[in-house]
Amino acid sequence: MTNLIASEAHDLLVRLGVPAARFTGGTLAVRSPVTGEEIARVVETGADEARRTIGEAAEAFKAWRRVPAPHRGELVRLLGEELRAGKDALGRLVTLEVGKVVSEGLGEVQEMIDICDFAVGLSRQLYGLTIPSERPDHRLTEQWHPAGVVGVISAFNFPVAVWSWNAALAFVCGDPVVWKPSEKTPLTALAVQALLDRAVARFGDDAPAHLGTLLIGGREIGELLVDDPRVPVVSATGSTRMGRVVGERVARRFGKSILELGGNNASIVTPSADLELTLRAVAFGAMGTAGQRCTTLRRLIVHESVYDALVPRLAQIYRSISVGSPIDSDALVGPLIDGAAFEAMQASLRDAAAHGGVVHGGGRVDVNGAGSFYARPALVEMPAQVGPVRQETFAPILYVLKYTDLDEAIALQNDVPQGLSSSIFGNDLREIEQFLSGAGSDCGIANVNMGPSGAEIGGAFGGEKETGGGRESGSDAWRAYMRRQTNAINYGRTLPLAQGVRFDIG
Ligand code: NAD
Repeated sequence: MTNLIASEAHDLLVRLGVPAARFTGGTLAVRSPVTGEEIARVVETGADEARRTIGEAAEAFKAWRRVPAPHRGELVRLLGEELRAGKDALGRLVTLEVGKVVSEGLGEVQEMIDICDFAVGLSRQLYGLTIPSERPDHRLTEQWHPAGVVGVISAFNFPVAVWSWNAALAFVCGDPVVWKPSEKTPLTALAVQALLDRAVARFGDDAPAHLGTLLIGGREIGELLVDDPRVPVVSATGSTRMGRVVGERVARRFGKSILELGGNNASIVTPSADLELTLRAVAFGAMGTAGQRCTTLRRLIVHESVYDALVPRLAQIYRSISVGSPIDSDALVGPLIDGAAFEAMQASLRDAAAHGGVVHGGGRVDVNGAGSFYARPALVEMPAQVGPVRQETFAPILYVLKYTDLDEAIALQNDVPQGLSSSIFGNDLREIEQFLSGAGSDCGIANVNMGPSGAEIGGAFGGEKETGGGRESGSDAWRAYMRRQTNAINYGRTLPLAQGVRFDIG
């Protein structure tokens, strides 16, 4: 099995344009969670080389910011073409390296294609403002300029899509990108870099060298990006623990950070909910990607009148959902990323039981031997929102709570440190609008009659509180990759001062 996965991964990498020397004989061991076995040894970036790469990106900025934005969009259009051509191979590599089931591996690449399409259109819509001036013969405007090098630090669970949310926007905004992917997923990063290199080569001489580059390694290499004043924008996706450190360090040098951190997402099931639809949505939201999405459904807050109709059926689905290898079965739930993730899951389940929780499922499933970690998703009926329910455990655990009135449900939903995503199931307009109002969900994302996960790229993506407050992807998220400039222009022959101030020098 090992050799099969390793050799398939190597074939895919070569097909996608990555030289074999980059992933053999290096110092960073890559394991496939499908079997737990080593599939590659990637060459890491040294500290001096990383500093040089950042310097080269800063040089590239001087040229790229002068290329007209719609022309910069053409590069992203070409990148979208490369991703379309490489979709099957890259999607498969995501499955081998992260363990996502096949349709989710492909879906991740589709999301990259979608954001490229979005960014191409955006390249002609980086609109500024015209503002009425209080002074005669004056014009007041606001325009957006490229910000500079964007450092992207990404997490293992969306190993390539997160780069594209940032990079597609950054490139059209006039910014070079230096990417530090998760040390658990360097192979898919190498593949994406090869596709980008091909798009840049097709684009021609207007693209400077080193426009998009890669730093391979762990946290120390990420820290170089975080601390370097030549990187005005750092977009960091990962745990709240990481974001707390990165946010502080970037702020210390007055850089800007876009933080996309952990979630603890809830859905409220109201008395008027369509329970068939709710069951399907809860199953995907809580068990899809083996519970390893930042938007995974982790808390289900169920009205007491529908609890007995819903929860036993959900427990039955949890007992029967297929858990298995993403490469030689059509199981819906694949492996956890590694043994540490499985241990964290077990620790949370023990803690939940100690707090009075009734645990259904959650045990280890032997699929491919001792080196891989597959688990039956766990449903945990909790008497209160205590202990592990208040934290993000990056595994398929769904805590279920009962409520009596909607105010109480919304208060429970909001009473956690994280604020990424949320949803409500129901058909009572008043309840739904209350949930969506300013006094409702406090999350960056609030959905109706669907789970909290599976966002489209058109909306701004991100969350509040310990999720970090950053926004990426669609809507006006592009503004974080540019700097705003206000222009006051006097086209008259006198010099009226604002606020009626007089300063006559005779
Ligand atoms: P992680 O925090 O362990 O690592 C994320 C990245 O940060 C890695 O590339 C890592 O090398 C780097 N890193 C860690 N410490 C650093 C430091 N001090 N300086 C610079 N870089 C540092 O996260 P993970 O386990 O890879 O991913 C899972 C977490 O990511 C979950 O909490 C999940 O909710 C979160 N996540 C959030 C979003 C979002 O958009 N909000 C998306 C995906 C994942």
